Amino acid sequence: MANRRALALFDERMLLHRPQVEDPFQPGRLERRVREILNGLEVKWNFPERPERLVAIRDLLDAEPIAGLVRGTGRSASREQLARVHTFGYLDSIDRWRGRSAWLDVDTTAVSPGSVEAAEIAAGTAIAAVEAVASGSTDSAFALVRPPGHHAESVRARGSCLFNNVAVAAAHAQAELNFPRILIVDWDAHHGNGTQEIFWASPDVLFFDIHRAAPFYPGSGLLGDVGAGLGEGTTVNVPIPAGAGDAAFLKAMREVLRPAADWFKPDLVLVSAGFDAHQADFALNVSHEGFAAMTGIVQEIADRHCEGRLVLVLEGGYQLEALSRSVHTVLRVLTGETPAEVREPGLAEVEDAAAFHLPAFSDDA
Ligand SMILES: [Zn+2]
Repeated sequence: MANRRALALFDERMLLHRPQVEDPFQPGRLERRVREILNGLEVKWNFPERPERLVAIRDLLDAEPIAGLVRGTGRSASREQLARVHTFGYLDSIDRWRGRSAWLDVDTTAVSPGSVEAAEIAAGTAIAAVEAVASGSTDSAFALVRPPGHHAESVRARGSCLFNNVAVAAAHAQAELNFPRILIVDWDAHHGNGTQEIFWASPDVLFFDIHRAAPFYPGSGLLGDVGAGLGEGTTVNVPIPAGAGDAAFLKAMREVLRPAADWFKPDLVLVSAGFDAHQADFALNVSHEGFAAMTGIVQEIADRHCEGRLVLVLEGGYQLEALSRSVHTVLRVLTGETPAEVREPGLAEVEDAAAFHLPAFSDDA
C-alpha cells in the first residue's frame, strides 16, 4: 500500500504564535480601530488562526499513525531566505515586533511575543520540505506550519500571514536547488493575493489559484488577473461561488490546471494547501474525499513533469476536526493510498434504494 515516500514536518515553536484579544497590544491608531470594531460585534471574537489547529493535526497523526509516513521537525528561515520575496524594509518592520504584542492589520493579523520566531520557522520549515524533496530522500513533503503565508505580500502582513511561506520556498528552490520552473497550486478557500503579487511578473512561477470569488476575503483573484509583463499568462485564477465543492474543484484541476501544467512543465510542484474549503468550515463545500482526489491530481502532475517532486505547505482551515482529518487523508494519499472515488453524498444510497424497491413495481414479479 505505502509505495511512496512522504515526510511531514512540524515544529512546536510554531505554537508560540498566539495573539489573544484580551492581551495588551502596542497602543496606537491601529489598536484603537481594532478595539472599535471588536466592541461593535455582538459576539465575542477571537483569532480563528490559533495553535490548536496544529495540535489537532499532530494529535490525530499520533492517534492514527500512517504507515510509511516519516515525521520530522522544522527550522528557521534566514533573513536572506526571507528577503528573496520580502523587502529588507518589511523584514525590519516585522523584526521590531519580536517579543511584543501588536496589531499589524485590522483583518485579524496580529503578533504575540512568540510570533516572529514562529513565522520564521513556518517559512524555514517550508524550505526544509523543499530541500528534503530536492535531495531525493522523500517523494513528497508536507510542511505543517503556522502562521500561514499566502496573504502576505512583499511589503505587507495580511490575513493572519507574516511571511509568505510558499513563496519563500519557491524562491529558495529557484535560487539554491536548481529548479527554475515552479508550479504553485493554491486550493485554500481564500485567494492567495500575496503569492500572486510576489510572482505577478515572473514567467518562471505558474500560480494557479481556485478560491471563493470576490467580495469574499481578500477580494482579489479575478478571472482576468493573469499576470503582467513577462509573467503574463502565468497567473491563473479560477474564482468560484459560495456552495461550490468537489465537482467544481476537480473539474478546474482537470480542465484548467492540468493543461496549464502540461504547457508550463514545472521542475517542482508546490501546493498552498488550505482546508477552509472543507464543507464543515464556512466558505465552500469540499469533502475529505475531494481533498484526496485533488492530492491525486497534483501528484499525477508532479509524476508527469518532475519525477514526483511535490511539496505541500499548510495555509488555512479552522474547523479542527475537518482540518486534522483532511490533512490525515492527504498524507495517506502522499504515502501511496489510492484516493477514493468522489461521489455526491447519498447517490450510492439512492441506487441501493432503487434496487430494493424497483422489483415491487414490475409486473413480472
Ligand atoms: Zn483561507
